[in-house]
Amino acid sequence: MDLELSEEQAAVRQLAEDFVARDVTPYAAEWDRAESVDRSIVKKLGSLGFLGLTVDEEYGGSGGDHFAYCLVTEELGRGDSSVRGIVSVSLGLVAKTIAAWGDEEQKRRWLPGLTSGDALGCFGLTEPGTGSDAGNLTTRAVRDGDDWVVSGSKMFITNGTWADVVLLFARTNDTPGHRGVSAFLVPTDSPGLTRHTVHGKLGLRGQATAELVLDAVRVPGDALLGPEGKGFSIAMSALAKGRMSVAAGCVGIGQAALDAAVAYAGEREQFGKPIASYQLVQELISDIAVDVMAARMLTWRVADLVDRGRDFATAASQAKLFASEAAVRAANNALQVYGGYGYIDEYPVGKLVRDARVMTLYEGTSQIQKLIIGRALTGVSAF
Ligand code: FAD
Repeated sequence: MDLELSEEQAAVRQLAEDFVARDVTPYAAEWDRAESVDRSIVKKLGSLGFLGLTVDEEYGGSGGDHFAYCLVTEELGRGDSSVRGIVSVSLGLVAKTIAAWGDEEQKRRWLPGLTSGDALGCFGLTEPGTGSDAGNLTTRAVRDGDDWVVSGSKMFITNGTWADVVLLFARTNDTPGHRGVSAFLVPTDSPGLTRHTVHGKLGLRGQATAELVLDAVRVPGDALLGPEGKGFSIAMSALAKGRMSVAAGCVGIGQAALDAAVAYAGEREQFGKPIASYQLVQELISDIAVDVMAARMLTWRVADLVDRGRDFATAASQAKLFASEAAVRAANNALQVYGGYGYIDEYPVGKLVRDARVMTLYEGTSQIQKLIIGRALTGVSAF
């Protein structure tokens, strides 16, 4: 694995860093309070190519490798996890899955809009009754002539109220022992589909999170993505790459925590000296630094495996598990450096703590990542 960035990778990271400094960081606290990022950010992300990374140029993508994708994701996560999540879901979970599993018509219909930011995607797997146990989902799609009729509901769907298309997972076969889940591309303006904003989140408050309710939503036969009955594998392969992206976002949170802690420790004086001069404060800062670097290396390793076409699923779970727990520790340590000022939202570290916390929950909780890693090592499923 080459730890030296190529010229292209360094350039795309710089582009992301400049964009975040200009168009994200200055507004992050305001968006957090307003419970919504400025929606114009989606078009800006698209015009810079950040919503098309790794997608072929013939479908409107901006090419690039997964290493570059992780670098951009880290920078976005450093600025605002809500903005980072828009990309991780619309590109990482939806557009990349269409690119991998879609037929020519589906790619031409959806990818140019998703990669330019003219359209946004969301990923509908979790339901009110099934989270970790996603394979037991109950949303149902029934054949009616050439069409499918879909009923059920989906919970906690990132980008949900903004999205133009939902990559939706529904049960199409009830035979015992049969996974029987299929993937569909459902336009969100389909009659019978309603969306309800999930308010009051602890973190990622700028993000449009929704419950989706589908009441006999009719979609044509060509809305089926990939083979019938393959939906669960499609969801799991999307989430494996998604975990790399969450890990990269966590590195960004950790880096923001480190930058903030170092700056504040240099400015704040107690007992007549900057708090940076106290060993226990330096311990907090060095703990953050080691967590960030270890998380970054695990994340880069996944990107390297993906780019070389190697098996990466276990490595992605390892990176996501460590990076998400590390981001929580890093943000919490940074808050400690800030003392009481860390506890009020005039300063950035409280938001980092709140935004970091969900990373250990979604795209598989920390417990689920441990079960995935344990299964890979022992050959025994403990789910
Ligand atoms: P549960 O599955 O009920 O878990 C509760 C607890 O039990 C956890 O601690 C879990 O680790 C533990 N547990 C469960 N099973 C086991 C087991 N076998 N062994 C040990 N412990 C176990 N979903 C989407 O489909 N699309 C999205 O875009 C999306 N975005 C999200 C955004 C936010 C802000 C949030 C909060 C969630 C989002 N989710 C999304 C859902 C998320 O993926 C789920 O919340 C997550 O998978 C956990 O499911 P659950 O909340 O139902 O918890």
